[in-house]
Amino acid sequence: MHSKVVIIGSGPAGLTAALYAARANLEPLVIRGLQPGGLIATTSEVENYPGFVEGIGGFELADNMEKQAARFGARYMDAIVERVDLSQRPFRLITDSGEEVTADALIIATGASPRKLGVPGEERLANRGVSYCATCDGFFFRGKKVVVVGGGNSALDEGLFLTRYVSELKIVHRRDALRADPILQERAFSNPKITFVWNSIVEEILGDDKVTGVRVRNLKTGEVSIIETDGVFPYIGHIPNTSLFKGQLELDENGYIIADHRTRTAISGVFAAGDVVDHIYRQAITAAGEGCKAAMEATWFLSEQEHAARKLAELATTPA
Ligand code: NAP
Repeated sequence: MHSKVVIIGSGPAGLTAALYAARANLEPLVIRGLQPGGLIATTSEVENYPGFVEGIGGFELADNMEKQAARFGARYMDAIVERVDLSQRPFRLITDSGEEVTADALIIATGASPRKLGVPGEERLANRGVSYCATCDGFFFRGKKVVVVGGGNSALDEGLFLTRYVSELKIVHRRDALRADPILQERAFSNPKITFVWNSIVEEILGDDKVTGVRVRNLKTGEVSIIETDGVFPYIGHIPNTSLFKGQLELDENGYIIADHRTRTAISGVFAAGDVVDHIYRQAITAAGEGCKAAMEATWFLSEQEHAARKLAELATTPA
């Protein structure tokens, strides 16, 4: 299968790129990836995406973006890209079903994934009380106790969402000050269901076939204690989904793709947008803005290629 523009990833960056590329009549192909809609689709309420006075659900926002791009001709493929070859043109991609997709221009919008705690019990009890998605799993913790780990916007945002269901929520944070925005801090401090466990890290998640507690160490005093809980939601940041591109594109020391302010990577015709390059802002709106830039750059790139090809053809047919 060949497309002029292939977009890997279907979060706000990928879907906005799809909208702009579709409106440029390029019929882009979006390969949805592991998390259709991207991380925003797993977010409960988005209150800071302009244009939605009362906020909008993350899933609904992503779904709207997808439909909007489809209206102008964007196409979607439910697949995961397993290999890419950027050394030849067209660029070559192999999906998890073994299908080969080629592209004249490629927009990488593979985003970032939740960082794991990396402690005993985390993997074993995944989906048995350990969850990285409050929106998806909050309902299962109705009337129960949960622990959220982290002190950023995600920890507080998702923690506040969980208080709709749970009876008690403890936020375990490794420092005694939060990184989250003041408005979320105010809401969390005034929520009667939330208490904080400061200067502490989770060392182990306990339970046989479901979570029953966490072992926590206080970094100031060294004291170890057990918190009884039915669920654990780690929200300790993200790691970029760039393993596909190792050795082919330049990555920074944290694994983010290096692209210029016009979303261009070192390989002409390959653009990168959203959380896969951005470790500072990581907002749906900034990702969408970058997706727009990447699609416009891809459109210009393809026009230049076509222009150059036409000139070559003219030269070849001009008598000497
Ligand atoms: P983040 O801002 O990087 O915060 C990660 C939190 O986890 C920090 O408090 C950090 O502690 C802690 N942490 C990191 N590694 C840890 C470890 N190994 N063990 C224990 N704790 C650890 O990540 P985020 O909250 O996922 O947010 C990511 C981006 O999305 C941010 O730019 C954020 O503003 C944005 N976001 C915005 C909203 C919103 O606007 N409503 C909602 C969600 C996310 P330290 O503080 O000590 O570093």
